[in-house]
Amino acid sequence: MQLTVLGCWAPYPRAGGACPGYLLQAGTTNLLLDCGNGVLGNLQKHLDFRKLTGVVISHLHPDHYYDIFCLRHALGGAKRDGSRPESLELWLPEGPSEAREQLARYQDVFLIKAITAQNRAGQGWLESQVGECKLQFMPTEHPLPCYAAAVEFQGKRIVYTADTGWTARLVPFLRGADLLLCEASLQEADAAYAAAGHLTAGQAGELAQQAGVRKLALTHFWPEYNLAVTKQEAQRAFDGVVDLAAEGKVWKVE
Ligand SMILES: [Zn+2]
Ligand SMILES: [Zn+2]
Repeated sequence: MQLTVLGCWAPYPRAGGACPGYLLQAGTTNLLLDCGNGVLGNLQKHLDFRKLTGVVISHLHPDHYYDIFCLRHALGGAKRDGSRPESLELWLPEGPSEAREQLARYQDVFLIKAITAQNRAGQGWLESQVGECKLQFMPTEHPLPCYAAAVEFQGKRIVYTADTGWTARLVPFLRGADLLLCEASLQEADAAYAAAGHLTAGQAGELAQQAGVRKLALTHFWPEYNLAVTKQEAQRAFDGVVDLAAEGKVWKVE
């Protein structure tokens, strides 16, 4: 499996950067995790958009899905010229309804799939299939419906937390991950903002430590931060390898 960073900044990008988006590739499966602004342009440095198998939108905050409006036109053109006749699977959370309904209207190019947790209070999570991969979703702690996603292929597991505040509920979902792509929105000095549904880098490290993941990749960075501090704070809580997302960065899981 391979994970390529297309955008890692939130809620706005650094100069030349992009908001969250990640290309996960396994076998013949090409899955786009989130599609923030700037992601479609960066995607095409690595993959023809016609070759996408599916798109997962973790939640409907603008910086995680606004390039869907661009992708929609790209797919519309590809449908007209016959270069990609089939619709693209688009996984969406259940709300907020206004944003969801707007996207769900594009059924000419997208096959809309619903993300829903089976049991929001317990440890149940939705299991499905995308291409050759098993796909699982777990609700996170965020002001609107938001889902962490786990992708498994040939015994390997990559988990993406999406946006979340601290919750021990995530630990069993992250357990056994070969690679954890974890939001680390805040540094210790701004920990008071964590109540808004985000993690400090230290909490990201703590989650990785409790779940015993093999490798921790941090993402979802406030653009003004010195990321050396972010990395240091996560590393203090996690015994394994800590890495930082950056546009074009590739992690292989084998
Ligand atoms: Zn969010
Ligand atoms: Zn976000």
